[in-house]
Amino acid sequence: MYKTDIEIAKEAVMKPIGEVAAKLGITSDELELYGKYKAKLSDELWDRIKNNEDGKLILVTAINPTPAGEGKTTVTVGLGEAFNRLGKKAVIALREPSLGPCFGIKGGAAGGGYAQVVPMEDLNLHFTGDFHAITSANNLLSALLDNHIKQGNTLGIDTNQIVWKRCLDMNDRILRNVVVGLGAAADGVVREDHFVITVASEIMAVLCLADDMKDLKERLARIVVAYNFEGKPVTAGDLNAVGSMAALLKDAIKPNLIQTLENSPAIVHGGPFANIAHGCNSVRATKTALKLADYVITEAGFGADLGAEKFFDIKCRMAGLKPAAVVLVATIRALKYNGGADKKELGNENMEALKKGIVNLEKHIENLKQYGVPVVVTLNKFVSDTEAELGFVKSFCEERGCDFELAEVWEKGGLGGEELAKKVINTIETKESNYAPIYSDELSIKEKIEAICTRIYGADGADFSPAADKAIKKIEELGFGSFPVCMAKTQYSLSDNASLLGRPKGFRVTVREAYVSAGAGFVVALTGSIMTMPGLPKTPAAFSIDVDDNGDIVGLF
Ligand code: ADP
Ligand code: MG
Repeated sequence: MYKTDIEIAKEAVMKPIGEVAAKLGITSDELELYGKYKAKLSDELWDRIKNNEDGKLILVTAINPTPAGEGKTTVTVGLGEAFNRLGKKAVIALREPSLGPCFGIKGGAAGGGYAQVVPMEDLNLHFTGDFHAITSANNLLSALLDNHIKQGNTLGIDTNQIVWKRCLDMNDRILRNVVVGLGAAADGVVREDHFVITVASEIMAVLCLADDMKDLKERLARIVVAYNFEGKPVTAGDLNAVGSMAALLKDAIKPNLIQTLENSPAIVHGGPFANIAHGCNSVRATKTALKLADYVITEAGFGADLGAEKFFDIKCRMAGLKPAAVVLVATIRALKYNGGADKKELGNENMEALKKGIVNLEKHIENLKQYGVPVVVTLNKFVSDTEAELGFVKSFCEERGCDFELAEVWEKGGLGGEELAKKVINTIETKESNYAPIYSDELSIKEKIEAICTRIYGADGADFSPAADKAIKKIEELGFGSFPVCMAKTQYSLSDNASLLGRPKGFRVTVREAYVSAGAGFVVALTGSIMTMPGLPKTPAAFSIDVDDNGDIVGLF
């Protein structure tokens, strides 16, 4: 019987966070402590290190997953530990988990097995309060918007064209569509409103892409909250909301430092949705990590068609980052799933499904090479994997001249990642990275979408609904045509249809809707129906979470 993630995390012997920080040369004066094991990195630290040379940036991404997740975070954490074991100065840069899903379907966001960051209960629950601050800033903007309308609406906001939504960090489907302002005239103007989960708030994307407080404020000011009766955008700046929102975000913008089970440093900051936002940790955290360490290992959400694409085409483009290598995580389970195996049978050897599903890995390798960044494939080993299955994937990669190594970090921690770390170091030292995004700023929005659909998804082209057509025209007229595109698509397929597994061919992608996130600085293109406020399942994980007589949290994954 294997221990659960929380049981393993509970056994961790954590070091005071100052000792972990010292490994990166951070002094106690440069830390803002949140208890014994968590700290924020101060502005003074950034001022001291900002002219240091950058370390090497390594992205961990994955093939199209099964619904259980394929272990990107687990591999990221284990790889960071392995670098440290090999005596390298390395830091992990992860996203913060959203609170809501912790109470829904089981599955943490702090890694798994012997490759986790701790304290995992804190990280998965309130952590350092960043998401609460984002929720507050988001809802302050809503309050100022509704108050403006109630107080005479001098900006002429059309209540039928309000695009700003309230938010909450909870899986609460009943809030997706609500009516606000019911009651007497003194209770405000009645209108339809919506809630999104906090990680889907544009404030989250803004915080994650902002370089510093000045940039954060400029981005906040540009957020489009509504359109007026003439169809012109009304921004957070127009509502005079920027200073007060920035005040709420003053600490949330600072990266957080925690540690792995083996006391390696981990910077964990920001957590934008990987569908309607870009799904990467904050630019500020990544840049800080690069100044502090020789190797920075980071993760992007979902499979490489979404996560890596946005990491390269949005985050790296905007922040001027130059990744040195990509680690592409595959699992035997997901390859078999992509080959048509039944979800319940993924633990049994099935060479036929594996051979069929391997085309998914092949396409992702080809895709990552399009960005000019060297790729190392790793199999995140599960105890159910057989020698025949592992051997097949290894030869498949090697026959294609692609670096390959097993990751056994879930079972063995950093020790199980040492061979992979050596392979990554060797790849970085011997293969040059010529990173470039796959489309240029100058292309039209539709051309950018076409480029992603054909070159990354393998589609024959993109079709646009009349609504999307109209929206894109307007976005370009408003002057946002040079923005990159943030695709919202299913994570289960390279296509926009979750049931097309493997390497689908002969399909077209349908863009249903488009809108601008002017603060974040991208245009969101929606394919299929995208959930921005999840619900809870019939038996939510919340039922098994408790606090025992010692005050310890139990049942959290
Ligand atoms: P991702 O970041 O890709 O969503 P995670 O690293 O969060 O995936 O892992 C998802 C879940 O799978 C976690 O609960 C983790 O404990 C579990 N897991 C990851 N790798 C393994 C493995 N090799 N064996 C068993 N369980 C694993
Ligand atoms: Mg993850």
